[in-house]
Amino acid sequence: MTVFKTKKELQKFALETRRSGRTIALVPTMGFLHKGHMSLIDIARAKADVVIVSVFVNPTQFAPNEDFDSYPRDFERDAKMCEEHKVDVVFAPEPSEMYDADASTFVNEMMLSRPLCGASRPTFFRGVTTVVTKLFHLAQPDFAVFGEKDAQQLLVIKRMVRDLDFPIEIINGKLIRDEDGLATSSRNRYLSQDERQRALAIHQSLLGAKAAIIADPGKIDVALHNAKAVITAAGGRVDYVSALDTETLEAPTKKTRRLIVAAAAFFGTTRLIDNEMFDL
Ligand code: AMP
Repeated sequence: MTVFKTKKELQKFALETRRSGRTIALVPTMGFLHKGHMSLIDIARAKADVVIVSVFVNPTQFAPNEDFDSYPRDFERDAKMCEEHKVDVVFAPEPSEMYDADASTFVNEMMLSRPLCGASRPTFFRGVTTVVTKLFHLAQPDFAVFGEKDAQQLLVIKRMVRDLDFPIEIINGKLIRDEDGLATSSRNRYLSQDERQRALAIHQSLLGAKAAIIADPGKIDVALHNAKAVITAAGGRVDYVSALDTETLEAPTKKTRRLIVAAAAFFGTTRLIDNEMFDL
């Protein structure tokens, strides 16, 4: 396994790989890897000749009051896990390598990035689409794998790839949970034992809403109200609990086939997200 720290090294390697006729799969991450990330890496490994994993805590997707500085980092451990899962290349640049100090070009998706996380984190998706565009240009992947844990991000990336004609197939990875139902996340590291226990309410609230909506699709508002109450009762502070059409991220209509019930909530100072997607 090779570790590249510079954009030049990665792009040279990627162009040579493509020229030799081998396919590339990219898995973008912010590191502090867990079994959610590893499931994406395994999908990439099965799909392409060469697997590239990026480990980069991307400053442009954090607002000034957010956790960029404290975001957990452990590169040695990440590299070991990548090696064990037969990754070919880890790309781990410094922010100063990724962005020139006077960088002034951004990629903006204007529709799907508005609701849910986009409402409370207005510059988040601009940071994501910009860094993913840069990673696509550097790693030249045939395939890129993103997790359904960040379902809105996945939709935004797919829309960007469609709208801007990137010759890349985006592959979904299923949302991976711990045994107790908590969605695995690097940010779970911030939770005290008590907070972690109480945070199980997020997934429980989503399962409750899913069951209620399937039983009576006419009463989505009641289901969401009850889901919020479950999180609040566990001591969480709800950012949103919403049920939207998975294609448009707008309120469901008669045409809606598949629904996403998504939640974001704070336990202590830690903001966690989760979702359930299901056919109507
Ligand atoms: P992150 O490092 O949190 O930015 O995530 C990098 C990639 O891993 C994204 O595509 C995420 O959706 C995905 N991911 C993170 N957690 C999970 C999980 N629990 N299950 C599936 N994919 C995940």
